[in-house]
Amino acid sequence: MDHPLPTTTLDAPIFDPRAFRLTPFEADLTTRAREFGARILAPRAAKWDREAAFPIDNYRDMHAEGWLGVCIPRDEGGLGADFRAYCLAAAELGRHCGATALTWNMHVCSTLWTGLLTDDLQMDPATRAQHQSRRALHYRRILQDGAIYSQPFSEGGAAAAGAAAFGTTAKRVEGGFLVNGKKIFASLSGHAQQYGILCTDVTDGTASRRNTLYLAIPADAPGVSVAGEWDPLGMRGTVSRNLLFQDVFVPSTASLMPDGLYFQAAMRWPHMFLTLSPTYMGLAQAAFDFTLRYLRGEQPMPGSPPGEAGRGGGIPPVKRRMYPTKQIAVAEMRVMLEQTKALWFQAISEAGPDPSKDSMLRALAAQNTVMENANAIATKAVRTCGGQAMLKTLPLERIYRDSRCGSLMLPWTAELCIDRIGRDSLYERGETDE
Ligand SMILES: Cc1cc2nc3c(=O)[nH]c(=O)nc-3n(C[C@H](O)[C@H](O)[C@H](O)COP(=O)(O)OP(=O)(O)OC[C@H]3O[C@@H](n4cnc5c(N)ncnc54)[C@H](O)[C@@H]3O)c2cc1C
Repeated sequence: MDHPLPTTTLDAPIFDPRAFRLTPFEADLTTRAREFGARILAPRAAKWDREAAFPIDNYRDMHAEGWLGVCIPRDEGGLGADFRAYCLAAAELGRHCGATALTWNMHVCSTLWTGLLTDDLQMDPATRAQHQSRRALHYRRILQDGAIYSQPFSEGGAAAAGAAAFGTTAKRVEGGFLVNGKKIFASLSGHAQQYGILCTDVTDGTASRRNTLYLAIPADAPGVSVAGEWDPLGMRGTVSRNLLFQDVFVPSTASLMPDGLYFQAAMRWPHMFLTLSPTYMGLAQAAFDFTLRYLRGEQPMPGSPPGEAGRGGGIPPVKRRMYPTKQIAVAEMRVMLEQTKALWFQAISEAGPDPSKDSMLRALAAQNTVMENANAIATKAVRTCGGQAMLKTLPLERIYRDSRCGSLMLPWTAELCIDRIGRDSLYERGETDE
């Protein structure tokens, strides 16, 4: 049969620079990310998953190749990626190792939020100058020492969903803050040098979301401890254990954002919460890529190098692409993947301060779509490729488990996205049925 389309390579960019009109910077960054993911992340991904171990070797390599400073502004020593460039690069990493991409996102947000995002927000000149000198301190640690920052928000209550003030508290004392509280699912626990926590300033005795502080707590500060086991279904390399803070003193320079600015960011730059999605965009693509390779008989099978079927003692790869049922399944997966890519690309393209209501609802729809479809595509991949494809010796099984975690991520869980999209589509602000 003639091929109606020119041949594409199986590891082509998720977002073709020409088709999606990427900037030269984005095209270069995503090419580098794709190459880094294939060379460094992919060969190690099974090990972190099997051992539920933090991918520390990957972080050393990311530091060496500049990835830890991807969103640090260029004039402050980083690669200077903006929101969209970062998301596109992160999807390419997620394609190769979900746990590394997801934890890298926590780290990168500590620079994206304090950099590009805060630059868009309202501050008086003195506050801005103080913020810039403080963030320079954190950026130096990252760029020079390879310091890793994490982003533990979740507490098990309503705070991470944005419905209540954080239960972790900070009280002003001479020279800084005294922090008390607990974070759950704190990815990078025991491996990050700094925990970038959200907490409530309770110095005046009130617990309000407006008083949210974003503080960097050194992992070795007295009173900081890591607790609990980590043996989850997926994203095992994130090592998301619990963090406890008991009378932890941090100096004022620990402020990653000026007072009140996190609340302003959450209100005015809500796409900031979309940054958990690129990992899952990458996983959706990975599940699809795997299916093509597998059905074409090109997926290397353990012990059997391609083209040498069975010689290594393993199961030889088998072509399955000639069956109409497989072709239909692949078509359905491709339709879902293209829909996911199109919506997500639009949402990351329009991210910025003060989005319109439509833009905001699109961002929520994109988050919901990526998180749900990544797992739907992976699920279909398992069904279509069959039993041998779900062996732990192949990556699909890990992709399937990792992809299951996306829709649970607060504050924009799949459920909460649906909740808001429905309500905000039907009601204008302040409208009631009375
Ligand atoms: C692999 C992994 C890594 C993670 N890494 C981090 C991290 O680094 N930092 C971090 O802060 N968190 C992290 N999380 C936590 C994550 O963001 C959620 O906070 C966590 O999964 C919430 O746990 P839960 O579903 O038991 O919470 P619950 O609060 O019990 O929520 C259960 C479900 O109820 C719904 N729900 C919750 N609140 C509301 C509400 N107000 N109204 C209506 N419905 C609601 C949501 O759909 C939610 O999925 C991670 C989670 C996973 C799985």
